[in-house]
Amino acid sequence: MNPAGKPGKTGSLMPVEVALARLLEMAESSKIPERLRLPLAQAEGRVLAEDLISTLDLPPWPNSAMDGYALRIADWTGELLPVSQKIFAGQAPEPLKPGTCARIFTGAPVPSGADCVEMQENAEVQADERVRFLEPLSVGQNIRPQGQETTVGELVLPAGTRLGPIELGLAASLGCAELEVVRKVRVAVLSTGDELVEPGQGLGPGQIYNSNRVLLCSWLWRLGCEVIDAGILPDNLSTTRARLEELKDVDLILSTGGVSVGEADFLGIALREEGELSLWKLAIKPGKPLTVGHFHGVPVIGLPGNPASTLVTFALLTRPYLLRRQGVKEVEPLKFQVPAGFDWPKAGNRREYLRGRLENGRAIIYKNQSSGVLRSAAWADGLVEVLEDRTLVAGEYVSFIALSELLG
Ligand code: AMP
Ligand code: MG
Repeated sequence: MNPAGKPGKTGSLMPVEVALARLLEMAESSKIPERLRLPLAQAEGRVLAEDLISTLDLPPWPNSAMDGYALRIADWTGELLPVSQKIFAGQAPEPLKPGTCARIFTGAPVPSGADCVEMQENAEVQADERVRFLEPLSVGQNIRPQGQETTVGELVLPAGTRLGPIELGLAASLGCAELEVVRKVRVAVLSTGDELVEPGQGLGPGQIYNSNRVLLCSWLWRLGCEVIDAGILPDNLSTTRARLEELKDVDLILSTGGVSVGEADFLGIALREEGELSLWKLAIKPGKPLTVGHFHGVPVIGLPGNPASTLVTFALLTRPYLLRRQGVKEVEPLKFQVPAGFDWPKAGNRREYLRGRLENGRAIIYKNQSSGVLRSAAWADGLVEVLEDRTLVAGEYVSFIALSELLG
């Protein structure tokens, strides 16, 4: 553990939280302005563009939480009560006749005059159909009060909420048939590298299959983005420039590879010549080099090409950026603390995101954490965060971010 105050070894590397803050600032100033109305069935995965205010009390009237009998407690003096009406869900009851009870079913409106519902298991029905109550009764029991969930005028879902099954169900319960949502972010995905070949084709000498393309495209779909698959970009300046020029109408150009300041960094050269380029060296592992810039005004993020680096920098930096561009406020994934099930004897100068899983309440890590090994993440349930300059012995707590949290 790094004792407080001990100087770190991070040096000139940019801390992850600084990079994230900068990206979020950029996203904030280029939020997607267009909005549209969609029927609920088409709104899954979209972002709410305006506050959803309740136009109803929910429930709209007091209703029964049980199958049983509604009565006024003062009427129950130990004598048998006759049943004066039967109320099913979906029916409008009569006011309760004094000195009687009402047969009532779950979800049915409680008649005016009744102040309690007793479940049928605690009621004894006589041969003449009058009812005896076997247990003490209390005011309000088994009645769901009007407006217990929400009342007219209450803010139920703020603008910027991501709409999933639960939010859509809630909107439906308020009677909304359509919701105002933000237009999808249009993201062009570019894979750079002369060595890349698409699956389905034969592999020549020195070639590898392009895994980042499908990884990013399918992830972006999950995040509610419109994906423009801009294919493989060879390591060549004129093609790079020409391909970037074709992508004028997107909200983000997202590339992988070619960011390691090597000789093959043609994306960087094109941005420097006709746009704007910052090369960030991040205190993150896997990952480290990140290209951030603009080409003819279109934002560009260039992720490192090794698949596990692509995954981690997309998950922790690009995902929040894309969500914020759609106006989402809560963009950071939930982290929880778990005991490490491994030792980490050598402190690093970058924040490590180890591909790990939970076993018997402890985080264990995949045996090979190389940034080229995507299989580590397929094995994993989450990312185990080990802070820079930190060593660990098993049993000490680390942060764990579930992959399920990051992938949606
Ligand atoms: P680069 O950043 O271009 O130097 O790439 C770093 C490493 O990631 C190299 O081993 C590349 O072959 C590999 N790589 C780059 N892009 C991809 C991709 N789309 N799919 C799989 N591996 C990639
Ligand atoms: Mg490359």
